[in-house]
Amino acid sequence: MKEFDHCILCNGFNFRIIHRKDQWQYLRCLNCNLVSLHPRPTPQVLMKNYQGYLPVQPEEIRKWEMMMKPVFHKSADLIDSRTMTDRGRLLDIGCGYGFFLQEMRCRGWKVEGIEVSEVGGQFVREKWDIHVYSQPLESLSLTENLFDVITLFYVIEHLDDPLALLREVNRILKPGGVVFLRWPHSTPIIRILGPLSRTLDLYHTPYHLYDFSPSTMEKMLKSCGFKEIETMTVGNTRPSKRFNRWASVIFGGLGGIMYYLSRRHFLLPGISKTTLALKPA
Ligand SMILES: [Zn+2]
Repeated sequence: MKEFDHCILCNGFNFRIIHRKDQWQYLRCLNCNLVSLHPRPTPQVLMKNYQGYLPVQPEEIRKWEMMMKPVFHKSADLIDSRTMTDRGRLLDIGCGYGFFLQEMRCRGWKVEGIEVSEVGGQFVREKWDIHVYSQPLESLSLTENLFDVITLFYVIEHLDDPLALLREVNRILKPGGVVFLRWPHSTPIIRILGPLSRTLDLYHTPYHLYDFSPSTMEKMLKSCGFKEIETMTVGNTRPSKRFNRWASVIFGGLGGIMYYLSRRHFLLPGISKTTLALKPA
């Protein structure tokens, strides 16, 4: 276990407990609203846990592919629309089975991934013949200004030090390069449901070390050197369980409609968000 005494984003030290499970507590910073897990598993324990995080059965992998397909497709459209002229070099951090990398390669991108789970990395190498690093980004010491686009799907909430990672992402992006983040936004639902939310465990305790909001995400990216930060709702997942699928389609669809009807101002709380930001040219 590792203790922490202040908020990583604003250095505040006043918190309110908003979720508990076993020995774990999720604390909301009363100054900036960032939600952090307390106490925390050490990075070594987390790394060990992730070795068993991805399913290995072909049937489960297929379900995972079907669930993420609409998100990957719409995210790919969004990235293509923002980087019209050339299809450059793309790195997907936490690439899982590589379905998104394969989609982008088909669209003309030169792709590479990072996946710390051996099962995932091996799958990507064997099935897609795509280069995958198996160490975390921080230990790769890549040269600066390498990539045009870096993507992170449901990764940032799992990191012990998301600020350090985003600074490193900024360093290895080319000037004018784009970082793309897809992240869960669970706290509004947990606050609405109150004690009922315990059974849902939307934070996947203790896997999510943080829960962000559009404003904490913006603050974090700005402090790591990014500009033109834009958060939006883009597509929804398609889980294999019927109830989860309906909830995802209804809330994801509703979020998308409200976002566009409000001329890109209203972000339905509680559903996954997508954030794009630029490294200044
Ligand atoms: Zn704070």
